[in-house]
Amino acid sequence: MKLLRLGDQEPAVAEVRATLTYLGFLPATPRQISGSAERAGADPAAPPDGSASGPGSGSTTGISPDSPTSPTKPDTAAYQSSGVSPGTATTRDVATSLDAATSQGTAASKGLATTSDQAASTDPGIPRDPGAGSATTQSPGSKLGLARDAPVATPAPSTVPAAPVVPADRFDLSLDRALRAFQQSRGLSVDGILGPDSARSLEEARRNLGDRLLYHSPAHPFAGDDVAALQERLSNMGFDVGRTDGIFGPRTEGAVREFQRNRGLASDGRCGPHTLRELKRLRRTVTGGRPDVLRESVRLLARGSSLLGVVIALDPGHGGGDTGVACNGLCERDLMADLADRLSTRLIDSGLESVLIHAPDESLTEQERAARANSLEADLLISLHTDGSDSRHAQGVSAYYYGTTRGSSAVGERFAQLVQREIVSRTSMQDCRTHPKAWDLLRRTRMPAVRLDLGYLTNEQDARALGTTQFLSAVAEAVLAATQRLFLPPEMDAPTGQLHVPRVAGRS
Ligand SMILES: [Zn+2]
Repeated sequence: MKLLRLGDQEPAVAEVRATLTYLGFLPATPRQISGSAERAGADPAAPPDGSASGPGSGSTTGISPDSPTSPTKPDTAAYQSSGVSPGTATTRDVATSLDAATSQGTAASKGLATTSDQAASTDPGIPRDPGAGSATTQSPGSKLGLARDAPVATPAPSTVPAAPVVPADRFDLSLDRALRAFQQSRGLSVDGILGPDSARSLEEARRNLGDRLLYHSPAHPFAGDDVAALQERLSNMGFDVGRTDGIFGPRTEGAVREFQRNRGLASDGRCGPHTLRELKRLRRTVTGGRPDVLRESVRLLARGSSLLGVVIALDPGHGGGDTGVACNGLCERDLMADLADRLSTRLIDSGLESVLIHAPDESLTEQERAARANSLEADLLISLHTDGSDSRHAQGVSAYYYGTTRGSSAVGERFAQLVQREIVSRTSMQDCRTHPKAWDLLRRTRMPAVRLDLGYLTNEQDARALGTTQFLSAVAEAVLAATQRLFLPPEMDAPTGQLHVPRVAGRS
């Protein structure tokens, strides 16, 4: 897909703007609010009061038919910030959110002429086809899809000349800010660029539980906030969905079946109208805590403190024609291949099983990497990268684990912290800390996964360190120690900075 960014102007931008408005990242106009309320009323799955349900906000309440899928809904703050009082339609509609996609249908059904129509009628340059430039496919059940399919009102004659207005298809600063806020809330890289990750996340974010029938489809798993909402509800009632990752996999199916059996429904593992009704009817019996997190930790502890038989999947971040960052005479692909070999040897020496998930000449997508780690049934995935920056001053080591505002991989987070601590204590690298991210590699792996960014090749000091075998050995040693710590019960964890893992006798 074509990347969209600040300054671009094309039909797809209007769609992004409409979605971000629907999700509450851009101020909604008064009419849009009434529009979304009407949609909510028409759809049993939509929130009855428009209130947002943030992470953890529902921990003491029962399961209400609310929708925890939208980060924030348009609220009165939007009125204030837009300087528009409720009930007054102004040309600001066009400037802020041009309801092209979200409320045209509603406005049209009332026979109202919208200001966007006016703007369009005075500016033939604005494309009028609401379907044009649609970068993503929509299910017929999606609310935006329904709204978009509605007939468009005939433009009414305009007596007021159009105020200075940003066309909806122009990627302006307000859209840039909104997109960055959205990216931040979803654990994506905050760059203000609409690429494949952000486009997919936008598509997923507007899925509300009840929009579509959900079931396990191995070839093309359902993904979206509706799946995450389902997982959250099941998990809160004590059903084992694994990680709340918004992907309908075999474990989610198992949990749905279990729930259905429990409630005397046909146990088909599909979340349709009957299952939904039952989910909504039931009051939550388990409150507080994060059942999914507890379960992840329990499983880990059940392994005991032996490293024997633990499978570590290693992912050299690049391969084949993809060199990664190349700077200061060094190449990320080759450095990380070298590190992966050292680390693998060290892990095997210590009694673990270690597998490289791809050959040096293979260049895989993140999804493919995740799929390989999953098929290996690895206990842990470690992805190895170096970083690069336009600024030669940027330097340091950071570690990333799966996480969004909705939840994170507790074990991934703990491993990221452990490995970060070990690396910083063994090298002179600056500590850029650990961060939750929703990157595909971290999200689609079923085991805890951590991505390491081991210094900046664009920084002279980091590059000098990365070019030495001592550094690569120190990192290998750090990862090994962190792995041992991860599988040790906390009381056995040595309090000091470094843990040295002896080689297992008898292994070659
Ligand atoms: Zn890389």
